[in-house]
Amino acid sequence: MARSHILGFPRIGAQRELKSALEAFWRGDTSEAELQATGAQLRERHWALQREAGLSQVTAGDFCFYDHVLAHTLLLGALPARFGFDARHLTLAQGFELARGNAAQPAMEMTKWFDTNYHYLVPELGPQTRFDGGHDAWFEHIDQALQHGGEVKPVLPGPITYLRIAKSHTAGFDRLSLLPALCDAYRRILARLAARGVQWVQLDEPALCTDLDERWLAATDTAYAALAGSGVRLLLATYFDAVDAVQRVARLPVQGFHVDLVRAPQQLGAWRAALPGDAVLSAGVVDGRNVWRTDLRPVLGTLQLLHEALGDRLWVAPSCSLLHVPVSLAGEAHLDPALKPWLAFATEKLQEVVVLTRALNEGEAAVAQALQASDSARASRTQSRRVTNELVRKRVAALTPAMAERRSAFTARIQAQQAALKLPLLPTTTIGSFPQTSDIRRARAACKRGELSALDYLQRMREEIRIAIRQQEALGLDMLVHGEAERNDMVEYFGEQLWGVAFTENGWVQSYGSRCVKPPIIFGDVYRPEPMTVETATYAQSLTERPVKGMLTGPVTLLQWSFVRDDQPREATLRQLALVIRDEVLDLEKAGIRAIQIDEPAFREGLPLKARDQPRYLEQAVGAFKLAAGGVRDDTQIHTHMCYSEFSDILPAIAAMDADVITIETSRSNMELLDAFGSFRYPNDIGPGVYDIHSPRVPSAQAMQSLLQRACKVIAPERLWVNPDCGLKTRGWPETEAALKNMVEAAREVRAALAAQAA
Ligand code: GLN
Ligand code: ZN
Repeated sequence: MARSHILGFPRIGAQRELKSALEAFWRGDTSEAELQATGAQLRERHWALQREAGLSQVTAGDFCFYDHVLAHTLLLGALPARFGFDARHLTLAQGFELARGNAAQPAMEMTKWFDTNYHYLVPELGPQTRFDGGHDAWFEHIDQALQHGGEVKPVLPGPITYLRIAKSHTAGFDRLSLLPALCDAYRRILARLAARGVQWVQLDEPALCTDLDERWLAATDTAYAALAGSGVRLLLATYFDAVDAVQRVARLPVQGFHVDLVRAPQQLGAWRAALPGDAVLSAGVVDGRNVWRTDLRPVLGTLQLLHEALGDRLWVAPSCSLLHVPVSLAGEAHLDPALKPWLAFATEKLQEVVVLTRALNEGEAAVAQALQASDSARASRTQSRRVTNELVRKRVAALTPAMAERRSAFTARIQAQQAALKLPLLPTTTIGSFPQTSDIRRARAACKRGELSALDYLQRMREEIRIAIRQQEALGLDMLVHGEAERNDMVEYFGEQLWGVAFTENGWVQSYGSRCVKPPIIFGDVYRPEPMTVETATYAQSLTERPVKGMLTGPVTLLQWSFVRDDQPREATLRQLALVIRDEVLDLEKAGIRAIQIDEPAFREGLPLKARDQPRYLEQAVGAFKLAAGGVRDDTQIHTHMCYSEFSDILPAIAAMDADVITIETSRSNMELLDAFGSFRYPNDIGPGVYDIHSPRVPSAQAMQSLLQRACKVIAPERLWVNPDCGLKTRGWPETEAALKNMVEAAREVRAALAAQAA
């Protein structure tokens, strides 16, 4: 009998119950007991879904209040020493301080989990790190699951992935030197699970799908040799890409391997050849990263071949944890009824896994209805008139490489721009958004409920734009923005105006902690029926003599932060999005907007796990940006903005985007990135963020002045801009005003100093 399981379930709750509970607790409105009760209920509910769907086992230990990597750090007891907390007696509140910072210590660093938009808290390891145990919340979750009877499979991040994604602040420290101590900790954990009668434990090792050198591969051998014979069976779970060293990984002394056959079906042959005669193969055939209903028949074909060879050693599963998809389609009452049958969220994916498994064990006849539903969904999707737009197809087919090139080189363009814009040395600007006050959000909600007419809402937003422009003039900023009051979200705002894109009511996916996003679903050819931002941009420009930047979300970010159709290559969708933004850019230019910012904060997010696949991705991403930006005159200034990532290793690609100005997050790393930009000799204008907008702290003019002076040493002052490191929408007005006032003053001081030097 083939078996069925999942690697993990979303913990946020179908109605974002976890978010509400966390935020109420943080505000001090509820007790710890109430928060714990919500957590327990969510776990119960998610296990019940798995049992009721008919999975062979339930997965436990995937729940946590903030982040599963942090939860693992707590279980190991490997807290960053700087907080001074006692790992064994850590309170829940202290756990949140690690994640969110406190008065004395900044939060642990947060970064993206491989190529997803989920953020984990980076373990901080050093020579002093010990793994001799923290608090037991994780075991309590396992015990709660075991109480129901039935098979429970706990899941933990594996030792190699844990070390691989950790950081050390001690120069020259080798994370792998911690491996023996870490393996001892895993052995203790596994022994405690064995004592509870647990049969299988899943260790997540997506790091095995990255480029591992011999040192890391040898560490993998050592680690799993150390975990052998621990009294439980181990399922080594790999996902997000292929394992390259299949021969070697398959020889590890574990009892099962999970492989991602959605992202990397090509690895199946190597696994079939290398799989030891008694090992389990968990086939990840249902897409855990996307929302499309599985086309069951072809998948079943693959599984049947595997089943013949493996029998009960075959497990059927989603490709990765379902953390990355929304909880349930049941919450979508208003979704286009033609579209809904094409989709499967986490709960529906449980059914798919079970149907596939039953088809193997009981024959196709047992699931005839489900197979038929899958067939008709596929047929309706391929034949639907909603999906293809001939106009878009024609225009994409007519694209030429020349369209992605600006007319002149940067050196000529910047002269034309300076003549048109007349900005001072070290021009000051911001990244786009100004505070999203509760007033603004209330107006938007009232408009959605129909209590505020569209015209009144427009008027309210115009009022906000006027306030933002007046403030910026009063502060003495040089290049202004309209403030983005009308935008709920930088992707949703554009998606809502495009054809080929659908929106859910409750399709929330956890981004970090209590933060969730509701990615648009790109189901068809993307078409812009009319300009999206020209009206607000020209209104803002009409209020001031100073240049106002038009503000757009770039094609790569629109793609990356959506669920993308899987019936054509992602690149084809990317080009359609680039065309949409290009049209908008040209409309802004025609309307008299002289500078246009195309935000690409997610530019790096989709970078493939393996170096060999990265050049192609970067080429497509750069190409899309250039297509979006390339149509303008020389004297129209193209800005871009990036944040929340490591950029030093993709600087050549960033330079190849050929934006006239890039504003970039650097302040949190004390401008480390700046050195990279300096030594790379970034050719165009650059605005390294001089202050961290993620913190309510108002930086002094002096602090920003010294950052600017440092910047002047690595970047020619003629190329330098002065700006915060990201948009200000999460800040309040008082701190925004105070910080920008200091920023403008810092720029003036440095200008004066440069002038004095020159004289
Ligand atoms: N223009 C956007 C803003 O200011 C950019 C947001 C981002 O970088 N994530 O809010
Ligand atoms: Zn940003």
